[in-house]
Amino acid sequence: MTDLALAVDIGGTKMAAGLVDRSGTLRERAQVPTHGDAGARGPEVLWHTLADLVRQVQLRVAPDDRLVVCGVGCGGPMSPGGETVSPLNIEEWRAFPLRGRLHELTGVPTHVDNDAKALALGEGWVGAAAGRRDYIGLVVSTGVGGGIVLDGRLLEGRLGNAGHIGHVVVVPEGRRCPCGGRGCLEAEASGTAIAALTGHPADVAPPVMVARTGTLVGRAVASVVNLLDLPLAVVSGSVALGFGAPFFEAAQREVDLRCGLEYARGARVIPGGLGDRGPLVGAGCVGWRRLEGAA
Ligand SMILES: [Zn+2]
Repeated sequence: MTDLALAVDIGGTKMAAGLVDRSGTLRERAQVPTHGDAGARGPEVLWHTLADLVRQVQLRVAPDDRLVVCGVGCGGPMSPGGETVSPLNIEEWRAFPLRGRLHELTGVPTHVDNDAKALALGEGWVGAAAGRRDYIGLVVSTGVGGGIVLDGRLLEGRLGNAGHIGHVVVVPEGRRCPCGGRGCLEAEASGTAIAALTGHPADVAPPVMVARTGTLVGRAVASVVNLLDLPLAVVSGSVALGFGAPFFEAAQREVDLRCGLEYARGARVIPGGLGDRGPLVGAGCVGWRRLEGAA
């Protein structure tokens, strides 16, 4: 008999669910667009879409195996423990009681966390930061998020929002950010920002924009490296991984330029190692670590 975690990843574009075993292997997966074509939308319509997806994956649990926990990564903000979620890019859900609903549906202990924190955990479990005790995991896609592991512990903060690197300022007096600030990393380097700056989707951005984005991500990473004594940044997300080597080279150059103190020198910026499995492996990790009482 194999114990399995039901992993759920909820984003503005798609919702995914899968089965993750205790060693971090993703065994089954399925996904649906968050919003179908049909007109009617509302919190319950979206919930039923998710519930159908979860049931479908639950049916794939082999008779000899058993589901023991449910782990969820969801866009923020959320209340502590993900009791209620209000993802910025899912407007139907405001203070939606996600944890309780999923617990009721699955019948197993259910734990919810921010999707970028979940991905950072996954990278530290079986990805590019495996075995590392100090690193930041970033997601550069439609938005920019992050999660920080320091001394082997995922940083939480007062309300669970530690790691929001998307709102570190990288361009003083830069573009307006939905947070109310200016020149935040998310307002300058997210897929949304790149589309607004170039008039085209990020995946066709010209080399100068790829390099600029890498430089700005490197600038934010350098501040965090200097602040927290971190030797490693693992960057995932469709924009970063789609840009590839020129993006990572620009980010590394900027980190090298701005991390001159002895403890910070040599900090590395590397691509995530889990590819498109990352969000579900990370969600599974949110479940497993809580079940096992990890910090
Ligand atoms: Zn901001």
